[in-house]
Amino acid sequence: MDFTLNDEQIAIRDTCREFAEQEIKPRAEEMDATGQFPYDLVGKMGQLGLLGLPFPEEYGGAGADFLSYCLAIEEISRGDVSVGITMEAHTSLGATPFYLFGSEEQKQRYLLPLATGERLWAFGLTEAEAGSDSGGTRTRAVLKEDGQWHINGSKVFITNAGTNITGGVTITAVTGQRPDGRKEITNLIVPKGTPGYVIGNPYKKMGWKASDTRPLSFEECMVPEENILGKRGDGFKQFMQILDAGRVAIAALSVGLAQACLDEALSYARERKQFGKSISTYQAIQFKLADMDMEIELARLMYYKAAWLHMQGKPYRREASMAKLFASETAKRAADQAVQIHGGYGFMDEYPVSRYWRSVKINEIGEGTSEVQRMLIAKELGC
Ligand SMILES: Cc1cc2nc3c(=O)[nH]c(=O)nc-3n(C[C@H](O)[C@H](O)[C@H](O)COP(=O)(O)OP(=O)(O)OC[C@H]3O[C@@H](n4cnc5c(N)ncnc54)[C@H](O)[C@@H]3O)c2cc1C
Repeated sequence: MDFTLNDEQIAIRDTCREFAEQEIKPRAEEMDATGQFPYDLVGKMGQLGLLGLPFPEEYGGAGADFLSYCLAIEEISRGDVSVGITMEAHTSLGATPFYLFGSEEQKQRYLLPLATGERLWAFGLTEAEAGSDSGGTRTRAVLKEDGQWHINGSKVFITNAGTNITGGVTITAVTGQRPDGRKEITNLIVPKGTPGYVIGNPYKKMGWKASDTRPLSFEECMVPEENILGKRGDGFKQFMQILDAGRVAIAALSVGLAQACLDEALSYARERKQFGKSISTYQAIQFKLADMDMEIELARLMYYKAAWLHMQGKPYRREASMAKLFASETAKRAADQAVQIHGGYGFMDEYPVSRYWRSVKINEIGEGTSEVQRMLIAKELGC
């Protein structure tokens, strides 16, 4: 067993660490306060090749392995998790479906500008009545004689759907009924600007404020027959596969945020004096820091292992769910302890830990709640 990262993985991690430290972190407070989407930062990330890391060069990507991509997500999220989720949702949910299931023509047309960072893309699975039960999709698409899919329905909470550089969204829709009576779900590509595709106003959120999250609706929205992604009826299978890999990346994002909590808590504990001494000399504070460090290391190893299994082409659904579940809960505990170590100052907006505390909660919800992860792990156990 070798836990050493290779030269390329180290180079990508270090590039992202430096970029996050120099360009993202100094902007995090302002982005949180204004909620403005950071087009300039996203543009620079595109130039650095960060928006197409795991895709081959022939499709505009950087040709990096999946672990390198996760290391990048960890480091970017350590700088600011809004930027981290923009990168993750674009890559794991927006671009990866084209790479895995798209035809050669779709890869050239859609994946290429996404991998180079020229465009962002969204993935619309969740609906008002279909969240954890995402197979309960009500959005319908009917292929009519005019050769067009007629889409009617709506989606909620969709990341990256409405930025100025978003090219469109891939959505799940019911396209018929299977022989066993279950819904036939298919993924369809809906470019921005398609008549009948309405992008709602951004939500006001508790955290991840500089990321773009919107409701979408489709009213007699028509896309040509060839806008199907992969095979008709494969939608459910496809999004389960997309989410497995996405969860490893969300685990990495959570580790990045947890590490930021530890960074701030340690630095504050060293500086802050009470009862005549630095609070880092008190064992109660040291034990909090030691526990944070230990849990972060465990969470990191869990996403490394899940990423490694994925790269080996081995089954990894159990490990992906475990990594996402443990890392998101680790980040929540880390944010809580980081605020505690800051005392009253931790409650004030000018300290990053208050922002971390507000942003950490969503990690236990997005791309499958903690309950859903436990359900998936139990299913793998045979329950
Ligand atoms: C900021 C943000 C960004 C998002 N981005 C995207 C995106 O880009 N694309 C997208 O498609 N979706 C996106 N989502 C949606 C996200 O994936 C869902 O919110 C999530 O899957 C949970 O669905 P829900 O909100 O409907 O909760 P519900 O499914 O209604 O769950 C409510 C509660 O019930 C629990 N629960 C549900 N079923 C069970 C069960 N069988 N057993 C035990 N407990 C259960 C849940 O765990 C949860 O605690 C985003 C959400 C947010 C908040």
